[in-house]
Amino acid sequence: MRQDRNIKEKGHDPYDEGRKYSEGTYCPDCGAVYQQGRWVWPEKAVKDGEPLFCPACRRIRDDFPAGEVLFTGTYLENHGKEVLNLIQNIIDGAKERTPLKKVIELKQNRGEILVRLTDDHLARQIGDAVYRAYSGDLELKYSDEEKFVRLYWHRDE
Ligand SMILES: [Zn+2]
Repeated sequence: MRQDRNIKEKGHDPYDEGRKYSEGTYCPDCGAVYQQGRWVWPEKAVKDGEPLFCPACRRIRDDFPAGEVLFTGTYLENHGKEVLNLIQNIIDGAKERTPLKKVIELKQNRGEILVRLTDDHLARQIGDAVYRAYSGDLELKYSDEEKFVRLYWHRDE
């Protein structure tokens, strides 16, 4: 079963991720470079501009995620490692493609996995992938104004 719900909240995207930077601006934290309208990894660009934290590193510094996914249920007691591997693979793939999709926190407690991310689409991608691979229940709550999404996945054995 899946359920999507829109939470109407006031506010806006405080990280102004659509803004334009000067060509060559680079992030002193992760080394990403702003080139032709987007942040890329430096092997594809030249750091010849000003240092300025990229939106993902600003979110990490502020501990302010754009997306969160919480996995719960007794299914994780025996299959937590597989689910965690799938999550980690998606995270690694996303990080290779763009500097803006980063993990703020990934933690596993007994029967529970929480991942907090700098990107809302990455959160949806992770939730959808686990739902496709392991079924269970997936619930999604999002706020358009704040560009924030929270997903809840649950499966009991
Ligand atoms: Zn950065």
